[in-house]
Amino acid sequence: MNIRDEIKSIARQIKKIGDVDLHKKIFDIQAEISIVLEENKKLAEESNTLKEEIDKLKEKLKIMKSIRLEDSVYWVATGSKGEKEGPFCPNCWGTKEILVLMGMDIVRNRPYNKCPECMLVIRAKE
Ligand SMILES: [Zn+2]
Repeated sequence: MNIRDEIKSIARQIKKIGDVDLHKKIFDIQAEISIVLEENKKLAEESNTLKEEIDKLKEKLKIMKSIRLEDSVYWVATGSKGEKEGPFCPNCWGTKEILVLMGMDIVRNRPYNKCPECMLVIRAKE
């Protein structure tokens, strides 16, 4: 039995006894409990939102510790021996803080990195 049901049960018993003052007090307590439970629900929702935000910030911090600009595109270090992943779009990271892996395109026999999100084209290192 949850706390609301417990209070209702007590209120019914008090009503049977006929103590009007006590019945009013238990009615007030019932109202207070409803308010506290509603506030608790809102705080739990807010807590979940904040936990999600913290997870996003931790992920961003992890990226920021391992990201570096090289030849006008971003690379993410994936290991201690110089392994890296990329290239990632500098425009998408700079404006939306999202890592978008750039594709490779060959134009007039020259390699270019192209972002599938913002369509930025940057000449790749040969
Ligand atoms: Zn982009």
